[in-house]
Amino acid sequence: MDLTERQKHIINIVKENEPISADMIASHLELSKSTLRSDLAVLSMIGILEARPKVGYIYSGLNFNPLMHDELYNASVESIMKSPLIVTQDMTIQDAVTHLFMYDSGSLYVTDDKSELVGVVSRKDLLRFLLNGSQSDETPIAVVMTRMPNILVVYPDSTVIAAARLLQLHEIDSLPVVENDHSNKVIGKISKTSIISHYLNFDTGGSIL
Ligand code: ADP
Repeated sequence: MDLTERQKHIINIVKENEPISADMIASHLELSKSTLRSDLAVLSMIGILEARPKVGYIYSGLNFNPLMHDELYNASVESIMKSPLIVTQDMTIQDAVTHLFMYDSGSLYVTDDKSELVGVVSRKDLLRFLLNGSQSDETPIAVVMTRMPNILVVYPDSTVIAAARLLQLHEIDSLPVVENDHSNKVIGKISKTSIISHYLNFDTGGSIL
């Protein structure tokens, strides 16, 4: 929800004239006090203005719009997730490396024949294996992947901030998004990149930098 032009105007009037009564705000806008009642109630409720009895309205000093804060942090994972690269565990290490380059991705999600998540393969898993040159790169990724139940996942209705905290805490680059029914069916991927894009797009009003 965005503030209306009138609400933004009220905020500016209060900023410049605080403390100011509702009557005075109304006369600045050449409107009746009753017309402004709901706007003043909304602005007070979300914490932008503070109504002090016998003093008037003052600007609370918040430098940000709390609603914007809510959209930034509490947006659902579903609203920003991307399509994951999904492979099966018999894929060779060689093909996994090719896949990461070809699709410009940092990780592959591995599913079984029921399309349920069984593993994650990242760049480091492949590099670790390849550094040990004695083994064949025809080896299946099942040998190097991180396996369930050690995979951290999020759900479509998880918040962006909850996902960001998991990524930071566990020092990983991405999280599979699985169905809400706990079936471990992968429906998306949320990565550090998608979270940064979400914040930057928001900052520029959705336009590309
Ligand atoms: P990179 O290898 O590019 O640093 P990550 O930091 O994502 O990528 O991966 C580091 C390790 O964490 C790898 O062993 C990988 O298998 C594992 N890993 C990646 N994503 C997850 C996840 N969602 N849950 C658990 N382990 C993960």
